[in-house]
Amino acid sequence: SIRVRFAPSPTGHIHVGNARTALFNYLFAKKNNGVFILRIEDTDLERSTLESENIIYEDLKWLGLDWDEGPIVGGDFGPYRQSERLHIYEEYVKKLMAEGFAYECFCTKDELEAEREKAKAEGRQPIYNGKCRNLSNEEKIRLKNSGVKPSIRFHVKEKEVLVKDFIKGDVLFPTDTFGDFVIVRPDGIPTYNFAVVIDDALMKITHVIRGDDHLNNTPKQILIFNALNFKLPIFVHIPMILGSDHSKLSKRHGDTSLNLFKDKGYLPEAMFNFLALLSWSAPDDKEIMSKEEIISLFTLDRISRSSAVFDFAKLKWMNGHYIRNLDIDRLVSEAIPFLEKAGLLTEGFKNRYKDKIPEMIFSLREKFEIFTELPDLFKVYTEFNEDLDGEAVELLKLPTSRTVLEAFRDAILGKTYITIDEYKRITGEIQKSVGVKGKALFMVIRVGITGLTKGADLDKIVTLLSVEDLKQRLDKALK
Ligand code: GLU
Repeated sequence: SIRVRFAPSPTGHIHVGNARTALFNYLFAKKNNGVFILRIEDTDLERSTLESENIIYEDLKWLGLDWDEGPIVGGDFGPYRQSERLHIYEEYVKKLMAEGFAYECFCTKDELEAEREKAKAEGRQPIYNGKCRNLSNEEKIRLKNSGVKPSIRFHVKEKEVLVKDFIKGDVLFPTDTFGDFVIVRPDGIPTYNFAVVIDDALMKITHVIRGDDHLNNTPKQILIFNALNFKLPIFVHIPMILGSDHSKLSKRHGDTSLNLFKDKGYLPEAMFNFLALLSWSAPDDKEIMSKEEIISLFTLDRISRSSAVFDFAKLKWMNGHYIRNLDIDRLVSEAIPFLEKAGLLTEGFKNRYKDKIPEMIFSLREKFEIFTELPDLFKVYTEFNEDLDGEAVELLKLPTSRTVLEAFRDAILGKTYITIDEYKRITGEIQKSVGVKGKALFMVIRVGITGLTKGADLDKIVTLLSVEDLKQRLDKALK
């Protein structure tokens, strides 16, 4: 059965590019009743932290990418953290050394550096010269005794390596661009290219789906797969995500780490949908699709060979679509933290409007695309905007405005709330008695109550706010 993995290094929040990689693996697994594995590549001990690891779990869960095997959930192919697999790598290093595929290299940093400089000066590829390949046992023992810690290099014997990639096709790599490469550092920690092969093989990964920035690593990995007689997985290198200027997406283009989208008020389902469409498309080019729909339509052969541009405006539009379609409970639970954070849900406001807050939020659902835009709109319920703009001032200056607002105020007195029917009756009466309609009536009432010329529907504002608050606001406008 199909087994795929997402293998992040725990060095911070997940970048949207990696999130897309995780998503494609997830979609492919779910579509084929396969297994989606999370593996933590934490061999860079200095940069990897447990905190980052937890952040990755949170980011993945937020996006809805639950893993079937990996940290927390376990599985039959663990441990799923590379730092806990060092004894396994050691076993395979021994095997490679015993079979002549790897050797100890005692060259010091300075020696290697000097060698590289020399090669450059002579116009050669600065690759390792193979100096330590044939050291005698006595020489090795002497070097070890003198305190030199060796690294271990893979002995590259082939002239070229053919990478058969599902997306890129056949790509031939001459090996003289990299030479004998290090598989274990002097501190005993394996390098990425080595550990990844052992893990992919032992975890029985069938498809390696990852960013094409790793295509250049693949020939080295294939050499190790072959040396150990491991079956090759199918390689699927997906195109990078680009920014608007067609360079690789980076912070210069805007937010790139997943949590920032969450913090800005993007919905995970919008992000899921949007990321799925980066270099993948549905057969009928449908854009808005549920998770289930995307899973059912996902195939590797619909992954494009060309890079996708991360279109921030499209994502925002898509998020707006998802927000408009949320049911009221979910809308409210997503919205509350943003209103709290903006300081709008004071104790006083909550005491007065506890039962009305959901409807207030619902009344605004078509007016924003991300939740960080909501608090400003919600203020229509929490305060009278005293900083009137020019249009508002003009409206209040109409010769009839004072009469309209006074009549409205007097008509609502004595009630706690007014109903929509009462509101319609009252405005109908004012229309007749004052002889105004349209803007001179409704916009004037809007400005009189909110201090603004736009916002939530007026019917909502006048029926959701208490008469006491309406009166206070009208008094302010009439001052
Ligand atoms: N830890 C590597 C990365 O984050 C994994 C690459 C791979 O999937 O092989 O880029």
